[in-house]
This record gives sequence, structure tokens and C-alpha cells, in this order.
Amino acid sequence: MYGYLLTCIGKKHIEEVSKKARQRLGCIQRHKYRLDRKSLEQCYITFIRPILEYGNVLFDAADKQYLDILTDIEKEALRVILGARQRSNLDAMYMEVSWPSLEQRRENQKIVTLGKIVFNNFPPYLIRDLPTFYSTSRTVRKNTFAIPKSNHEYYSKSFVPSSIELWNNLPSEIRCLNSHKALKARLKAKYYKKVPTYFSYGTRSLNILHTKLRIGCSDLNSDKYLIGVSDTDLCDCGGGEVENAKHFLLECGTNLVAKVTMLDSITDLLHDRGLDNDNLLDIDLLLYGSDLLSYNDNVRIFSFVHTFIKDSKRFQ
Ligand SMILES: [Zn+2]
Repeated sequence: MYGYLLTCIGKKHIEEVSKKARQRLGCIQRHKYRLDRKSLEQCYITFIRPILEYGNVLFDAADKQYLDILTDIEKEALRVILGARQRSNLDAMYMEVSWPSLEQRRENQKIVTLGKIVFNNFPPYLIRDLPTFYSTSRTVRKNTFAIPKSNHEYYSKSFVPSSIELWNNLPSEIRCLNSHKALKARLKAKYYKKVPTYFSYGTRSLNILHTKLRIGCSDLNSDKYLIGVSDTDLCDCGGGEVENAKHFLLECGTNLVAKVTMLDSITDLLHDRGLDNDNLLDIDLLLYGSDLLSYNDNVRIFSFVHTFIKDSKRFQ
């Protein structure tokens, strides 16, 4: 009965929020070529994701088929933000924006919520109902809870037992932190990584083409071959090479003048900064920039790459 009730509540809630979220997603979809990546990302994070996450520590117990509806909405939002094609790889898109998945964010929220109880920021009646909390000196069980036993799958997926399981699996140094603020900071460092701000550089169309090369959903033959849109992954230049981002940006003999101009400009920049050109000038630098360079230098490298992408006319 408990499981049935939980499923019904989760299903109804998810159906309602997904309808509302899709309406708002339609609004940002209409502006996907007018707004830049940063603005679209901000719109999603401010106006849509909170709808998908309201009450998430509770409805996380819902069946996967319903939770997948929310993931599909976030996937569509990522496609809008990045300008990615249909069937783009979700993990690659998450990596590009450095977001944890909705599932990871729900896990994070459960730990944070349980942390509030642990650090006594919640009313006493909630703490009273929790299982035994072991504050022993033994490292293995230090600051862990007894896991409530149940034969019912739905109960084990509900907030208290599932949060306790997540909490108990945290490294002991996180479980033993002494404040809720410190816990949130450690979890933030665990789940969130900073995206270079120069990933938003450039005109929307060139920024999208560059992003597509990074996440492997461009119109290059290797990317199209992977999703069955092209019969071959080889380059049309006839050299028998796979047409991937590295071949397109560094190796292919076509668009030679534009390519030499790009590589010469980057070589000069690296030389001016006293950096070893042979080790640094590779496909990763052209796609991701480098931590060794300043924001302005990375922007200059991205601008050289964008000019090459435009002059090559490969994606027209
Ligand atoms: Zn080629």
C-alpha cells in the first residue's frame, strides 16, 4: 500500500511538473539562436530546473520511468543551450557544462537535507525519529546511522533509508565535518566543477560549431557515422583518414591556407608566452584551451579556431 501510494504521488507530481517545465522550455527554445549560451543556461537554471527539482528528495523514490521524463526535459534543455543535435550523448553534454545529472543532484540534496538534521538545524521531533546515530571513535562506523530494515523495496527507496545509505557511503572525512556549511561546501566541490568562461566566447553560430566538435555531435563524418547518419567515418579528402575533430583541425590537407594561418597565430601566441609549442599545440588546446593560459589568451585561441571553422566552410 505504501509503495503504491508513493508511486501514484510521484507519477502525478512528475506529470504536473513536466508539463509546466516543457511550456517554459518552449519559451527558451524560441530564442536559442538569439541568446548566447550563458544566457540560455541561466534561463534554464533559474526558471526551469527548480520546477523539475521541487520536492526532489521525496519523489526520488518514484519509478525510473517517471524520473526519466525529467531527465528527458533536461536533455532537451542541454541541446538548446549547446546547440547540439538530436541523439547527442547526454554524458558528453553534462561534461561540457559540468553539471551533475538530476539523479546526482537529488542524491546531493538528500545528503544535504540529512546533514541539516545531523547538525541540529532541524526541529527535535525529526531527529527523534531517526535511527541510531553512531558517533563512535571507530573510523569505519564513525558518524553513521543504523540502516532501517525493510523487505519492501519502496520503503528502502524513501527519504530516510535511502538518504542514510548515501550518508553512510560518504568518505569518513565528510561524515565527520563539524558544520552544515562545511558539508555543503565539500559536496559542492565533489559534484560541481567550473566550466571555463571562454566556452561561451564567440558568435552563437560559431560557438555552437566549436561546441559540437567538443561533444562529438558535429557534421564531421566520424560523428555522423556514430549515429548512423553517414555511411562512412572517413574524410572526403581521400587520404583514408577518419574525419574526426583532430583530423579536421590539425591534419587534413584541405583548407590548408586557413589552417596554416590558424596554427601560425597560435604558435606566435605560445611563443610570446614562453610556452613549449611542441607539447602544447594539440587537439585539446584547440578544443578546450589551456589552464596555463590566461582568459584573454584562451579567448584569442578560440577566436583563431572560430575563424578557421568559418573559413573552411566545412559546416555550411
Ligand atoms: Zn581530410
